[in-house]
This record gives sequence, structure tokens and C-alpha cells, in this order.
Amino acid sequence: MLNIVIFGAPGSGKGTQSARIVEKYGLTHISTGDVLRAEMKKGSELGIIAKQYIDQGQLIPDDLMIHILGEVLDKAANPQGVIFDGFPRTIPQAEALKTLLAERGQEVAVMLDLEVPEELLMTRLINRGKESGRADDNEETIQKRLQVYHTQSAPLIDWYKKEGKHRLIKGYGELEQIAADLFEAIDHS
Ligand code: AMP
Repeated sequence: MLNIVIFGAPGSGKGTQSARIVEKYGLTHISTGDVLRAEMKKGSELGIIAKQYIDQGQLIPDDLMIHILGEVLDKAANPQGVIFDGFPRTIPQAEALKTLLAERGQEVAVMLDLEVPEELLMTRLINRGKESGRADDNEETIQKRLQVYHTQSAPLIDWYKKEGKHRLIKGYGELEQIAADLFEAIDHS
């Protein structure tokens, strides 16, 4: 059982590289952003609530997000393991994930931290917005999301360092090289 957290600022390539990892290790991909966008598309009650936060570049409150994650995790039973993309984003979420996995006799093997310079994140996200049409990929919301990343999510780096699970990966340059570095970190976790 291999449970991985892929971490990094918005635009750091978590989604792109998760796909490579899923292909190689047969993991289930859980992207909380994708889960929320699917709910928004359905127009469900959860989607309507989520939209208010996502459009502002803010995080969905921890208690709600943790509840959603628990439900998704139950449905995702995969003996190979899971890659968590976009979760945890706060320390309470990391603590909840630890508990949720421990209750299932599991743990996070490694936290892969994709490091990308700020100006590159900005360009990537603006370009993605043009292609994906994601409402939160506009300059104003991107600035907010980066700010939220620095204040609320970046403290997770130290949290996972204390757990002995943090691995810093250069998240720019050749896509193949990034994937190779990620695979090496996973194989040595
Ligand atoms: P993402 O696709 O991971 O960039 O997520 C898009 C948006 O969904 C974020 O800007 C948040 O508003 C919301 N979101 C996704 N994952 C989480 C999470 N773990 N905690 C709180 N909000 C989240």
C-alpha cells in the first residue's frame, strides 16, 4: 500500500505529475479540487457552497473538507494506494489525514513537494486559465490563491519534515526529469 501526498503551490504541476505517478504505480488519484469542481458542475448543495470559496481563491473550511475527504477515501478502496493531490492544504487537514489513514491501518509514505519559482507559477496559471476556462485561473484570484498557499499551506512543509516524510522536488524544467525525480523519491520512501 503506497499512499502519497503531492504538494505544491497552485500551478506547481501537481495534476500533471499525479497522472504520471498513477500510471506507473497504479494508484487512485484523489484531487479535492476535481471533486469540488464536479460538485459545482452538478449544481449540488456542496457545489454551491464550494463555489463561494473557490471563486474567491479561499479554502473550503476544514471540517467540511475533511468530511468530504473521508467519504471519497471510503469509495476509493484500492490495495495499491492513493495519491492525494490538493489535500491536505492546512495543518488540521494533515492531522485528519493521518488519523483517517491510521484508522485503516495505513499511513502517508512520502510528501512530494514540487518547488516552482513564483513568477513561473503566475505564467503557468494564466496560460492554463486561457485553455481550461477555470474561473479561478484569473490574475486577481491567482494572487489570492498564492497568498493563501503561503499563509495556510506552506506550514505543512515543516509539519511533514517533522514526520520525516518531506521530499523537495524541482518542479520546473523538463517534464521527464521532474517525473524521474518524483519516481526516485517514491522508490526510496
Ligand atoms: P485545486 O484544483 O487543487 O487548485 O483546488 C481549487 C480550489 O478548490 C482551491 O483554490 C480551494 O478553493 C478548493 N480546494 C481544493 N482542495 C482543497 C482543500 N484541501 N482544502 C480547502 N479547499 C480546497
